[in-house]
Amino acid sequence: MIVFIVLIIAALATAAWLTLEPSLIRRRRQRLMESAVPVHWEQWIAAHVPLFGRLPADLRKRVLGLTRIFVQEKRFVGCNGLAVTDAMRVVIGFQASLLVVNRPGVPIDHFYDELESVLIYPAAFLVEETHHLGHGLVTKERRALSGQAWEARRMILSWDDIEHRNDTGNVVLHEFAHFLDMENDSMDGAPALQNAPAYARWSVTFWEEYRRLHDDLQAGRPTMLDPYAATEPAEFFAVVTEVFFERPGELLAEHPGLYEQLKGYYRLDPAAWPGPAS
Ligand SMILES: [Zn+2]
Repeated sequence: MIVFIVLIIAALATAAWLTLEPSLIRRRRQRLMESAVPVHWEQWIAAHVPLFGRLPADLRKRVLGLTRIFVQEKRFVGCNGLAVTDAMRVVIGFQASLLVVNRPGVPIDHFYDELESVLIYPAAFLVEETHHLGHGLVTKERRALSGQAWEARRMILSWDDIEHRNDTGNVVLHEFAHFLDMENDSMDGAPALQNAPAYARWSVTFWEEYRRLHDDLQAGRPTMLDPYAATEPAEFFAVVTEVFFERPGELLAEHPGLYEQLKGYYRLDPAAWPGPAS
């Protein structure tokens, strides 16, 4: 009898928790969005993310609010002996948050909910890739990566590549673009869009631009896009996301169709932000 009562209480408690949990998460997120961030957060971000200085004040405030949530909810794991610092959490969280800041429902209904952990390596890390060539032939290749987003629950980043970034690349934006690309179950260069016509427009523009990049590279013509973007459509989307935020004016001038699609998807217009971006 006692066992029976205990089981009923446990079931009721679980049901109550399942009912309450989403509203508790919503309230906590709302509270975090509205609370002020520590002063040194902005210094850390400004030191690592130059585009921070160009963000309009209201947008900056909202991205910082999201960063609070990201830093609180995600587990950061140092790999190969790396000690994760608050600055690392904040710098990564800020850039991840920027990508979704204007997405409807963020953060109250959803906000990188599937992502559980961010693994940080001190520097580029080696991965062993197995390629099946058919007829039982298998090759193994070891590659050094600065980031990897191959499953929704985990993101892997190299801190050295975040800290010593070059002027145009951005490994955090790149990997989180892959994460968003995966949301509709396939990493194929097309993230989740609103409807079929949006997919059609995206597909036309992206294939055109992808082919154009291949043609330019083959003909030896100069292009503002990193040749790595020509590897596959998923890499094209991740690389143009970096360029959209890091060199928006140049992208708008040279690839207006691409800029327009990204502007619609991210609901942001970085070329219109003040400051000295190219
Ligand atoms: Zn990539």
